Amino acid sequence: MGKVTGFLEIDRQDRKYKPAADRIRHYNEFVIPLSEEATRDQAARCMNCGIPFCHNGCPVNNQIPDWNDLVYRSDWEEAARNLHSTNNFPEFTGRVCPAPCEAACTLNIEDTPVTIKTIECAIVDRAWENGWLRPEPPSAKTGKNVAVIGSGPAGLAAAQQLARAGHDVHVYEKFAKAGGLLRYGIPDFKMEKHLIDRRVAQMEGEGVTFHYGVHVGVDVPASDIVGGHDAVILAGGSEKPRDLPVPGRDLAGVHFAMEFLPQQNRRVGRENAGPEEPILASGKHVVVIGGGDTGSDCIGTSVRQGALSVTQLEIMPRPPEREEKLTTWPYWPLKLRTSSSHQEGAERDFAVMTKQVLGENGVVKALQCVRVDGKMQEVPGSEFELRADLVLLAMGFVSPVHEGMIKQLGVALDGRGNVQADTLAYKTSLDKIFVAGDMRRGQSLVVWAIREGRQAARAVDHFLMGATNLPR
Ligand SMILES: Cc1cc2nc3c(=O)[nH]c(=O)nc-3n(C[C@H](O)[C@H](O)[C@H](O)COP(=O)(O)OP(=O)(O)OC[C@H]3O[C@@H](n4cnc5c(N)ncnc54)[C@H](O)[C@@H]3O)c2cc1C
Ligand code: SF4
Repeated sequence: MGKVTGFLEIDRQDRKYKPAADRIRHYNEFVIPLSEEATRDQAARCMNCGIPFCHNGCPVNNQIPDWNDLVYRSDWEEAARNLHSTNNFPEFTGRVCPAPCEAACTLNIEDTPVTIKTIECAIVDRAWENGWLRPEPPSAKTGKNVAVIGSGPAGLAAAQQLARAGHDVHVYEKFAKAGGLLRYGIPDFKMEKHLIDRRVAQMEGEGVTFHYGVHVGVDVPASDIVGGHDAVILAGGSEKPRDLPVPGRDLAGVHFAMEFLPQQNRRVGRENAGPEEPILASGKHVVVIGGGDTGSDCIGTSVRQGALSVTQLEIMPRPPEREEKLTTWPYWPLKLRTSSSHQEGAERDFAVMTKQVLGENGVVKALQCVRVDGKMQEVPGSEFELRADLVLLAMGFVSPVHEGMIKQLGVALDGRGNVQADTLAYKTSLDKIFVAGDMRRGQSLVVWAIREGRQAARAVDHFLMGATNLPR
């Protein structure tokens, strides 16, 4: 373990942010890493618990106590090897994971969990800086080829695992670059995109071929891809957004978050923004409907674009500031979460339902809202109007898009409209077609997508070879 008495002697200390007034002037990351010594001190706090709940709390089952000990002993290279044995892309999770591991840490009973995410990020950043991460091409090829449709974290993790197992892997992506929501949803200020480019280069060195601008089921019939490969993994994400079916929804200035965010990410990435009208928050009163990660990203992006005001509406009641630890630990608690974007100057309002979008000359001008009680019933007399020049809908995603690839394949869906498969075989209702990530589990997290990509790769390797050495 780290230092035997570490948790008694050393206080929890985490990465800080650059001041809001500075960071809103650009789209770069603004988290300040801990020094090497401070990171080692934080790793020293790990108690190496008999039952390491963090290890189970982490969806990829990162071996957290092991790498905490290695960092404490300054064996960073071995820590990086250990971390990569369970997680293909710890620099992604080390930046954007909500860290269910820290919620599960035993020290979280006292609100001072080990800074697991910060240590994870330090290990992998150091590994890249020192050139320890290079392509790991297979020693022998199998002669089998696999198509991975979609290059989000699920598709990338699956492709890397399969290429390392010796298969010829082809990734088909409808957009111009790889990464899925990591590239086009999550803003650069949370995760800069050169991190994805570096991994893509590593994977190309391992023999993965990326085909960009190929929308399977639209540009190419899905049957062509299936016919041309020994196995196919569907990793197309959950892209159908939840809509707000109220009068005035069609007014100009009301957009889905995923119409707004990708435009800014493309601007930052110097990509052609395409033929769509630019959606900009500059000089506008912005209202974001929906309280999750996507909503936060809309706030941070609007503030950077120069919005006059940003208000976030959430239909659920305001959660408690602190969870009831003894009833929730080691599980993910419901509590008020304040993101870095919230700190940049957004108003938040809870238990509010939008009744109507009001406009003038076809353009949004205000929202008509009402307060709701815990049972979602309207509170009489609580109606109010909120000025809005731009309304961003960030209420989650209902399912994968069915038109195109999914309908062409005729693959079976579950009750929620996701592609049906279990978490052992990851096999769809069709021969040699597998599915992973949000397309199977519904809207989720990067770390779950990585887990599913890894596990689906193992299932495909077993299907192709009759045996597999890939880890689950
Ligand atoms: C704005 C936003 C912010 C988020 N922030 C966080 C966060 O901070 N932390 C976190 O853990 N999670 C976050 N998430 C969730 C997380 O990004 C997703 O759960 C994760 O990316 C899912 O990975 P995936 O590989 O399954 O799908 P995706 O990342 O959605 O990737 C799917 C890919 O498939 C491609 N594709 C789809 N259909 C086709 C087709 N027919 N042909 C070719 N290509 C196709 C798409 O273009 C896309 O590149 C966020 C989500 C959003 C929308
Ligand atoms: S991937 Fe997420 S859950 Fe797992 S150790 Fe890292 S921060 Fe924790």
